[in-house]
Amino acid sequence: MLRVAVVGSGPSGVYTAQALLQQSRVPDVRVHVLDRLPAPYGLVRYGVAPDHEKIKSLQGSLRAVLEDERITFVGHAEVGGAGGVAPARLKELYHAVVYCVGAASDRPLAVPGEGLPGSFPATEFVSWYSAHPDAPGDGFPLSAVRSAVVIGVGNVAVDVARILARSAAELRGTDVPRAALEALATSRIREVHVVGRRGPSQARFTTKELRELGALPRARIVVDGAELALDPAYAAADGPAPPLPAVVRRNLEVLRGWAAVPPPVGHGPERRVRLRFFLRPAEVLERNGRVGGVRFARTAPDGAGGVRDTGAFEDIEAQLVLRAVGYRGTPLPGLPFDPVQGIVPHLAGRVIRDGAASPGEYVAGWIKRGPTGVIGSNRSCAKETVASLIEDAPLLTGREVSADPLGALREQGLRPVAWDGWLSIERAESALGRSLGRGPVKISDWAGLLDAAGDGPR
Ligand code: NAP
Repeated sequence: MLRVAVVGSGPSGVYTAQALLQQSRVPDVRVHVLDRLPAPYGLVRYGVAPDHEKIKSLQGSLRAVLEDERITFVGHAEVGGAGGVAPARLKELYHAVVYCVGAASDRPLAVPGEGLPGSFPATEFVSWYSAHPDAPGDGFPLSAVRSAVVIGVGNVAVDVARILARSAAELRGTDVPRAALEALATSRIREVHVVGRRGPSQARFTTKELRELGALPRARIVVDGAELALDPAYAAADGPAPPLPAVVRRNLEVLRGWAAVPPPVGHGPERRVRLRFFLRPAEVLERNGRVGGVRFARTAPDGAGGVRDTGAFEDIEAQLVLRAVGYRGTPLPGLPFDPVQGIVPHLAGRVIRDGAASPGEYVAGWIKRGPTGVIGSNRSCAKETVASLIEDAPLLTGREVSADPLGALREQGLRPVAWDGWLSIERAESALGRSLGRGPVKISDWAGLLDAAGDGPR
């Protein structure tokens, strides 16, 4: 029997477990899927926006995998870190360990004022409205915000801008946690500026996500045609050359459509989402000890896909700044880490230690390839890693391992939440929702999750 530990129960972890079951060269496989949190599904539960119900429904297929009798979910089981299980210990207990720990941190912006109160990584805002138990406890005081700046033009920027532009009533039918919904209900936001340092043809958002902004019932999208015209690649969108990737062409069509609508006169009751381009963040400005705005350097295309500064600046007033400039992998103590790329160095998924592939240790997902691609990209990524693992299996299974690795981990002080515990959390979230006249509402604190799991108060 091949015994494998998969660390992380997000899409890459679950697709890895699934690929292990689906391969036929080693039919007798048992997989323990460990997660630091008591709840499974990683970024599908704690990253996909609450109003993206269709993507959220992927949880159903992840669940079907985790319910296979050859798989055991082990929640509330940290690997690495002060109180966690050391990778070296896991390697002893299992024939193979696959790390699917994602990219948990945010990329820094590295401009003055970035750390001012009111300036946050977008990942923190996402964690807050997704009820991540590590999200900042004091939340986001939106009642004091009239204008928000979102830096970056990727799908995370679009997600957070959309949540800021929605009314609380629109989100009531989702699983957004109670405190976040209450704070969103007090929001006085009128303007959300989503700002890219390069041009519209270099934006990273996808067309479906972009179009959704235009479909928001209480928001109006504002695009300045002059900022689109600045981009020679944009001007060529209809011309013979250079051919633009299909996603860029579609994005440009959408943006051009919005730019053609005459700018609104006065301010109606709606919120405005302003999509801006060619503005590089230079400084987060302070006012009364908090964020007061952002100073941007006006850029222009350099002809090679990048931009150069023009010497002009523009200040945008804001009481809230969300930096949506990408996720970043964090080192896991005991595992090698490439700080430049923010990934674990690997060869076709095999972890590289001291310049050579380390048999028995693998990676998949964002910690393997960086924070790119859609959820489905993790499937092929997991398959490649599992192919390497299965190739190594004859060597790995030659070593005897514990028949009860969980018992050994419990002896080490681990108090895991099993699948039944997770099902109890789900029931508690449904009950909480019913008591509020809503559908399931997520529990957002550690004590609440562990209580609901039946682990007792701590
Ligand atoms: P992303 O797609 O890499 O976008 C990051 C954005 O930040 C880019 O516009 C980038 O501009 C900008 N940026 C980076 N450094 C900057 C700096 N120093 N100053 C100003 N701007 C800077 O990252 P993401 O939005 O975090 O998304 C991560 C992944 O998750 C992506 O694959 C995304 O598609 C996926 N995702 C998908 C969905 C969905 O499908 N609905 C939702 C959320 C996330 P440059 O291009 O100029 O570097």
